[in-house]
Amino acid sequence: MHSGHSHLFIPGPTNVPEAVRQAMNVPQQDMRAADFGDLTLPLFDGLKRVFKTTEGEVMIFPGSGTSAWEAAITNTLNPGDKVLMARYGQFSTLWVKMAEMLGLEPIVVDVPWGAGVPWKEIGRILGRDKDDEIKAVFVTHNETATGVVSDIEAVRRVMDECFHEALLFVDGVSSIGSLDFRMDQWGVDLAVTGSQKGLMMPAGLGILGVSQKALAASKANTMRRAYYDFADMRQFNKDGYFPYTPPTPLLHGLRAALGLIDAEGLDNVIARHARLAEGIRRGVAAWGLDIVAEHRSLQSNTVTAVRVPDTVDAREVLRIAYEDLNCSFGSGLARLAGKVFRIGHLGSFNEGMALTALSLAELALVKAGAKVPLGAGVAAASGWLAHGAQTPDKLV
Ligand code: PLP
Repeated sequence: MHSGHSHLFIPGPTNVPEAVRQAMNVPQQDMRAADFGDLTLPLFDGLKRVFKTTEGEVMIFPGSGTSAWEAAITNTLNPGDKVLMARYGQFSTLWVKMAEMLGLEPIVVDVPWGAGVPWKEIGRILGRDKDDEIKAVFVTHNETATGVVSDIEAVRRVMDECFHEALLFVDGVSSIGSLDFRMDQWGVDLAVTGSQKGLMMPAGLGILGVSQKALAASKANTMRRAYYDFADMRQFNKDGYFPYTPPTPLLHGLRAALGLIDAEGLDNVIARHARLAEGIRRGVAAWGLDIVAEHRSLQSNTVTAVRVPDTVDAREVLRIAYEDLNCSFGSGLARLAGKVFRIGHLGSFNEGMALTALSLAELALVKAGAKVPLGAGVAAASGWLAHGAQTPDKLV
């Protein structure tokens, strides 16, 4: 038995604000009622603002982010299509697996876990593909496993430079709603997210931004799908309905969450993530520990993957945090298991939570045997949040 609050510092599901939780506490309602669109139609507009698209459409599927991946692929590609996929963490690895399971032929560019999207290599490969045999490029904007953010604009640039017609698929599951994401400006054709990260909701909605080009592809492609069919979804969505029973309490929660983002302002939300992430990183640096992201430009503002000293097992840090301190951090995934723990700092997150995360991580690290100076991480982060964060160019 623990007393007091438990602390959730995993990179999703994230902490659900009280206003969102309350908003989901509604009686069940008639999802065929004449006024159902009053609830749902503004959600599509709100999501379009978050995705930064006016030209594309947004669809909401009952499911998690992975369901939106599957919807994106099955609606726009054909069995046997060649697709170009960059792999640099567990989530980009899972994309490749899904593509194979669905009968695509991925050309995989592997880069070390800790690096970002290899856009120059993508440009080279596309440049050699004179007949546009490659039908899609898949990129994970924010690799949640490594805490690496990638340059999607650069991918779009190299695609345009060789006049390549491939569709651009972007996994924005741990970026959209927290990091700068520009679906239209970056020419993203399929933008995937889920409800349980930047959108501050429980898991349960797979959310997909679809460009006009992707919609056109969906009218001609031959891959089989039923539940995730765009045509069916659009037919119902135009009047605010769904082809099947939607999870209405989640839609109420989404309305509240989008209201919170609008009230704070999306740019301010993005700036808050940047400010708090920098505090976390300074804290980790003050412990004398490294993070997985290989370069400053790749550091994610939603999740930080911390390498523990060689003498320490990160699983032990996680166990102590969970069992003794009532606190969850993200585990090291796949090849990073035991080497890394991750601090999620996205969604409904503030200064108090950042400092609490650092102080509990310090305790767990020290209890697990790491020689980390107690208080150093919190002091460094506080210094940044008190002074440096006001004037981001000045290093304190
Ligand atoms: N892609 C990324 C980058 C993720 O972080 C996750 C989940 O953490 C997924 C995809 C899978 O999303 P879901 O678990 O919502 O299906």
